[in-house]
Amino acid sequence: MSPAIDPSAMSATERLASLGITVFERGWLSSNNILLLGDGDATLIDTGYATHADLTLQLVREALGKRPLKRILNTHLHSDHCGGNAALQAEWPDASTAIPPGLATAVSAWDSVALSHEPTGQQCPRFSADALLVPDTSLSLGGLRWDVLSAEGHDPHAVILHQPDHRILISADALWDNGFGVVFPELEGEPGFADVRRTLDTIAALAPDIVIPGHGPVFSGSTVPEALRRARTRLEQFESDPRRHRQHALKVLIKFKLLEWNRCHQDALKDWFVRSTYFRKIVRQDSDESPETALVSLLQDLARTGALVREGNFIRNA
Ligand SMILES: [Zn+2]
Repeated sequence: MSPAIDPSAMSATERLASLGITVFERGWLSSNNILLLGDGDATLIDTGYATHADLTLQLVREALGKRPLKRILNTHLHSDHCGGNAALQAEWPDASTAIPPGLATAVSAWDSVALSHEPTGQQCPRFSADALLVPDTSLSLGGLRWDVLSAEGHDPHAVILHQPDHRILISADALWDNGFGVVFPELEGEPGFADVRRTLDTIAALAPDIVIPGHGPVFSGSTVPEALRRARTRLEQFESDPRRHRQHALKVLIKFKLLEWNRCHQDALKDWFVRSTYFRKIVRQDSDESPETALVSLLQDLARTGALVREGNFIRNA
């Protein structure tokens, strides 16, 4: 007889492993990927960015061995969360793909504007979906029940997943160890901050013991309320100064492109930025300056905080 294992003595990663849950912690260009294998049926939640799809495939293949991938789930359809879907579907054509309902029509018509990939200047190869992750329903994944909850704010269509017996939350971009994702509706003049607060309240009420975020490390125990406190403070800062949130968002989107390109000529970055009506609209909300001028000060800020390095006429991600 093996000795009983006291769950409180195990690290969060060990507890996840004991339930057949593996988290592939990726960087900021690719979301984390969560593999649920508890009952031998393999489900992958979120699939990373397109340019990292080879690594995503490799990680999943190695973890699965001879077993097939049965399901692909996306918490939301930002390019860093579903950019690997097409490659995974090509590798495992029998896998089903479930997405939140809000953009189902946009996926079937592949409307890359509605999907945000075109406005933000990001890539995402076309994929298909054949199931929906409907909020306030539950599904059985990896031998465990997972509740699907709406997580509006960062994305009006996003969902999070909660496992009630072990109080594990897959929080996507609604809550990270340090903050949460850009509140995209606010960038287009739509309210979003109140939704962020509601989602944080939902998470606080669940009182999760382990949080698997969309980016960054898994956190657990007393660090969960601390993360919630940090997120609320940040939300209050953005609410009291929405311009700060827009500036932050533009820098996040530029940094994302630099993560993808790694190094580029400053003119290539300028073309990419200036061509986007989406970026121009965000800039125009705060000043009459040209997008070129706005970009100069955004790049200065990013260089000052060490997020990029200038090498003559080239810009390198740092
Ligand atoms: Zn996102």
